[in-house]
Amino acid sequence: MRPLTIIGNWKMNGSLSANQQLIQAMLGLGLTDLAKSARLALCVPYPYLIQVADLLANSGIALGAQDVSDHPNGAYTGDVSANMLQELGCQYVIVGHSERRQYHHEGDGLVARKAKAALQANMTPIICVGETEEEHDDGKALVVVRRQLQAVLDLLQGQVASCVLAYEPVWAIGTGKVPTPAQAQDVHRELRLQLAKFDAEAASKVAILYGGSLKPDNAKDLLAMPDIDGGLVGGASLNAQDFLALCQAS
Ligand code: PEP
Repeated sequence: MRPLTIIGNWKMNGSLSANQQLIQAMLGLGLTDLAKSARLALCVPYPYLIQVADLLANSGIALGAQDVSDHPNGAYTGDVSANMLQELGCQYVIVGHSERRQYHHEGDGLVARKAKAALQANMTPIICVGETEEEHDDGKALVVVRRQLQAVLDLLQGQVASCVLAYEPVWAIGTGKVPTPAQAQDVHRELRLQLAKFDAEAASKVAILYGGSLKPDNAKDLLAMPDIDGGLVGGASLNAQDFLALCQAS
């Protein structure tokens, strides 16, 4: 039985005062209690990691970042290494988010190397895969996500059990459009079968999250699917009540 995993991705949002209010509201609504039975984390912008680590201390809610360098250190201006994130208390880091793939031209190989760097620093990479709207309309969703996952499997080999996967159809992110639960389940099952060819035990353990306009009103049906183990949540993680409702939805 895989525990429910709900991970918030604040993207490039927040301020010192807004973060404090948001986390205090989340804790005030009882998120700490939910963290006893579910795996919860917030992935926040780099400048706020120390502040949010402090606000989340002893809450049971883990801290995460939204990207990481594939290099351990050196002349990579503007980049942040896995050891730096780990030192600040991060347990998770998102890699391969579609906004990184799209706006920063990150390819499958780089995403795999970032996941490896995270694992080497004892963090859990949240590896995002998902097809664009055009690929979806062309019926290529499965081909695309299989290719994206294969690049990770080729590099990580036996380490996949220590990762989290997130299926995020690009056309659903921030758009209000969502696949039907059955459509999402088909992709999740396919990803798990692909993992199982590599490592059956890991496949049964790895959390595969759904992401893309996940909201309190659609979460129950999506999270009821057998291979959907939780959510990677953008917009709704910026609202304490919505985030709490998502954590209670399954
Ligand atoms: C995301 O960016 O990972 C995401 C799922 O965003 P949203 O929930 O806003 O669609």
